[in-house]
Amino acid sequence: MSQKILAINSGSSSLKFKLYELSEQTVLASGHVDRIGQRNSTFTFEIHGQKTIQAEKMDDHLAAIQAVVNGLLTSHVIEHKSEIIAVGHRISHGGRFYTHPVKVDAAVKAKIKELSVLSPLHNPVNLAGIEAFEKILPEAAEVATFDTSFHYTIPPKAYMYGLPYNYFKDHDIRRYGFHGPSHEYIVLKARELFGTQQTRRMITCHLGNGASLCAALDGKSVNSSMGFTPLAGLLMGTRSGDIDPEIIPFIEERFHMSSEDVRKMLNQDSGLLGLSGLSNDVRDLNQAAKAGNQRAQLALDVYVHQIQQYIGAYTTDLNGLDMLVFTAGVGEHSAMIRQAVCAQLTFLGVKLDDEKNRADALRIDAPNSRVKVAVIPTDEEAIIARDIKQVLGIK
Ligand code: ADP
Repeated sequence: MSQKILAINSGSSSLKFKLYELSEQTVLASGHVDRIGQRNSTFTFEIHGQKTIQAEKMDDHLAAIQAVVNGLLTSHVIEHKSEIIAVGHRISHGGRFYTHPVKVDAAVKAKIKELSVLSPLHNPVNLAGIEAFEKILPEAAEVATFDTSFHYTIPPKAYMYGLPYNYFKDHDIRRYGFHGPSHEYIVLKARELFGTQQTRRMITCHLGNGASLCAALDGKSVNSSMGFTPLAGLLMGTRSGDIDPEIIPFIEERFHMSSEDVRKMLNQDSGLLGLSGLSNDVRDLNQAAKAGNQRAQLALDVYVHQIQQYIGAYTTDLNGLDMLVFTAGVGEHSAMIRQAVCAQLTFLGVKLDDEKNRADALRIDAPNSRVKVAVIPTDEEAIIARDIKQVLGIK
């Protein structure tokens, strides 16, 4: 009976997982549960390249995790629950406390709960995931990988806000940066594939439903477009990204909205969805824009412009740019967005090979491009699995 480890990546209404065979580090099964807590939740399960999707009502993360473990048992990927010796969780906010992954104990759980004030949409569901496994797999060790940890190398000049100092000193209000496991995976992979010289000054663009850019110097994060929370930075699928802070009290007063209402509006009703009034999905917007929908085109234009602006800004953080990498749903699959972003970067010496770009190739730069451009599929679960082994001292 071989030992296995499970990587869990849970969002507010979704959960992704990968089960690894421990000694080989091979993926035995993977999948995701979507729309947890809604009537139409689905469970997608993949083994040996075969995918099955079933509709299954799941009220909460405990039900979703139970479905995952049942799926592993009924498909005979595991014969008994005890084969899973450890579970790793991606945790949204580690505040100033966690610069590295840790083994979960009562004190760590209390800290994750305490940090929910900084990440009200994510830390509570991450904690629910940990507690669900305590019930379902009580023998398994649990490890926490924090979204913020990779960014602990950001220098004070980039993480401080221009607020009275005591908000930082007494209340930890500063930029933290998120999507750490994704940016770290991309940085490590790019350095492995292309060498350390070619990747010295790198910008990684994680463009999924959530989106953030990271500036990495010699493999270390020196800036992140996300901030105190994952709401900051780029406009995303449904999140506003950066706005003038004065807009918030203005809206609260003008429309008699509570801060909870405004938080919901900024997180769930804004971004590509809010601007277009149509969809948070770049594919839908692209199609609509082609058919003449002007608001869809506007949403895409703003999206692309903000990515360009951050790339411009991060080029100064890095004092130049050697490599630009695109990843996550949009970054990996939308040649149109990559092309539009790079069209305004010719001043940096960015030139795409159109054919390679259309093919989502690993390298999409033209031979005479000064900056190298790559498309690398992200793998946050690989970082979670690595952390499990590191923290538990497994060779
Ligand atoms: P998450 O952030 O939830 O992990 P993903 O990284 O999977 O999400 O990205 C999801 C987004 O990727 C979708 O909302 C969609 O906009 C985009 N996407 C996926 N495939 C394509 C594609 N072929 N072309 C353009 N956009 C795509």
